[in-house]
Amino acid sequence: MIQLIRGFKDILPEESALWQHIEGISRSLFQDFGFKEIRLPILERTELFKRSIGEDTDIVEKEMYTFPDRKGDLITLRPEATASIVRSYIQHKMYAANPVRKLYTIGPMFRRERPQKGRYRQFYQINAEVLGVDSPFIDAQLILMLVKLFDRLSVTDVSTHINSLGCPACRPEFKAALSEFLSSKRDQLCENCRNRSGRNPMRVLDCKVPSCREAMTGAPVVLDYLCTDCRRHFEIVTHTLDRQKIPFKVDKHLVRGLDYYTRTAFEILTGSLGAQNAVAGGGRYDGLVKALGGPAQPAIGFAIGFDRLAEITALNNTLIEEKPELFVAAMGEESIAAAYEWVTDLCLSGIRTEIDFSGRSLKSLMKRANRLNAAHVMIVGENELKQGSVILRDMTTKEQKTISVNGLVENVKALLKDR
Ligand code: ATP
Ligand code: MG
Repeated sequence: MIQLIRGFKDILPEESALWQHIEGISRSLFQDFGFKEIRLPILERTELFKRSIGEDTDIVEKEMYTFPDRKGDLITLRPEATASIVRSYIQHKMYAANPVRKLYTIGPMFRRERPQKGRYRQFYQINAEVLGVDSPFIDAQLILMLVKLFDRLSVTDVSTHINSLGCPACRPEFKAALSEFLSSKRDQLCENCRNRSGRNPMRVLDCKVPSCREAMTGAPVVLDYLCTDCRRHFEIVTHTLDRQKIPFKVDKHLVRGLDYYTRTAFEILTGSLGAQNAVAGGGRYDGLVKALGGPAQPAIGFAIGFDRLAEITALNNTLIEEKPELFVAAMGEESIAAAYEWVTDLCLSGIRTEIDFSGRSLKSLMKRANRLNAAHVMIVGENELKQGSVILRDMTTKEQKTISVNGLVENVKALLKDR
């Protein structure tokens, strides 16, 4: 038997009702805040991710699915969506007529990480990004929208962590202080961090190796190095969230795994998923549009881990069940033929109807109806059919009604719709 690839998974029919539910709530919330959907390709030129995510990141160093296509061009299965959104924004000159764009996208991402619970090699993200706005109010609004999404999904075990990562004006001073600190801790760092600490010291703050984490206690904190503008920006974000009663924690050790972040950075963490506790992450990336060849335009966005969100949503909600409204138990060839047409009409009129064409006994058909958890069963027997009627049974009350086959579809619709 051919099995799926390690780290990949099927989202089975029983789970996809929940996925659709989450997607529906997200879409309607985002649309109310003025976001429009953008659909992007899954393959991009490798260069795009190298330049945006950064060479010294885990993603680019070791997690990307990169291969030459048949002509030898290097292409990559996207590990995240922001780079593609920015590429598209620039390529289609979205900045020209109206630089302010609020975009969202939902789809698969690929990272060759070690598979484990909550960590897959193909996983899904829900992304929302605002391009062309530098006001801190948009940072606050985006965080609020994200928090409200969790509320609407009745997910309670989450907390919002916020930090500022500074900007090109104030970061060099912070980086210098950090580098100095790192050189005093060199022996305690993992090999990866030792390699990165010179070129890109901020990466070390994001390392998950326990000995590195320990070595980093007492490291300089970005918040202490913010310039006046960055400080003001951060204050407005946090004050606005306070005013709107959005609970959050300032987490001065929070940095993001990608190079392009500036100023506001945030994460939503949960206590329900064990080690894989980040459900969403995001932040401002004011330099990226320019770095990828566009005009200087600020931007901010977030990515929700859909797989992890689905898991905690399932923990907080009773499962959404898709059961049939009506199951048709037809016995005998003529009954099945007659029932077939009614069933088609009922489906087309919006009543979720199932029929079994096997011609088995009433007993086994009723068993099947019970297994499907059908709300009603319509029993179509040859004898009743000859007399021009069928039986409709309410599976909860066990009440049975005789229904005339004249205008059957309308009769059944009327009975089921006013329930
Ligand atoms: P982590 O710290 O868990 O590796 P990350 O910082 O790499 O997360 P981001 O790049 O910020 O993650 O992506 C946003 C969200 O996507 C994460 O918060 C997480 O919920 C989800 N995510 C990231 N990598 C995976 C993965 N391999 N499998 C499932 N979900 C993932
Ligand atoms: Mg990661």
